[in-house]
Amino acid sequence: MIFFCEDCGTRNSLTDEYIKQGIVEFRCKSCNYLNSYPLPGTERQSKLEIPPPKKGTKPLTNKKLSKSTK
Ligand SMILES: [Zn+2]
Repeated sequence: MIFFCEDCGTRNSLTDEYIKQGIVEFRCKSCNYLNSYPLPGTERQSKLEIPPPKKGTKPLTNKKLSKSTK
């Protein structure tokens, strides 16, 4: 993954080893600044709560659609 140094903006190509629990921590290869910040764009992806569809309960069939209009 590519991360940018917060200090100088240099691109740093990092492996997953630098990523821990949503936090990326690495030392910039250019300026040696120690970056430590949450992964961009992943703050709300850690918990995707999608309730599974309940089986056994049939969804209501839309009978209005079956009304013949011709
Ligand atoms: Zn830097």
